[in-house]
Amino acid sequence: MANLQERLPENVPGDFFVDSTCIDCNTCTQLARGIFRDHGDQCSVYHQPETADEIKLAMMALVACPTGSIGATRNHNAHIGIDAFPLLVDENVYFCGFTAESSFGAWSYLITRPPSQGGNVLIDSPRFATQLVKRIEAMGGVSKMLLTHRDDIADHELFRKKFDCVRTMHAADGATRLAVEQTLDGEEEVSLDEDL
Ligand code: SF4
Repeated sequence: MANLQERLPENVPGDFFVDSTCIDCNTCTQLARGIFRDHGDQCSVYHQPETADEIKLAMMALVACPTGSIGATRNHNAHIGIDAFPLLVDENVYFCGFTAESSFGAWSYLITRPPSQGGNVLIDSPRFATQLVKRIEAMGGVSKMLLTHRDDIADHELFRKKFDCVRTMHAADGATRLAVEQTLDGEEEVSLDEDL
């Protein structure tokens, strides 16, 4: 939860604010460019949301923020932000939101596919947030998890435990240390299954 006492002075006056715990991951500026800006080595609100669409974007940023650094002085329905994730970005690719501080706010994506095509694929790990996990479960769960980088693994073990998914990672990115189920090596293109 953001702390009003720690509200950054760079925020414009009004309802939404960023506090001093911001780690400058830029998730909020990418999600809601018209509301948040990077003012240097942290982010702040430069335009207070006015319309319902703007409030929704601000609430999505609040939910997606890895450090809980975004707050509001008025009451807003948290589900406006929570229920927006996973967010469809293209065809069958969703942005998971709910970034993790341990991954420094890295973005993770869910690719949905029917079980006959190998099932859903989680690219890197979001925060293991109950609301998000329930929604991913309702969308078919996770069959595979592709970990692209050692810094973006967040709660991969909890997702593995929950969905019994096969985790794939390259040896050079720490696969051995993490003891994932499938380790890639070398620099050749690899087929994980028919269309992946
Ligand atoms: S999402 Fe949170 S941590 Fe990341 S830049 Fe915005 S306020 Fe800072």
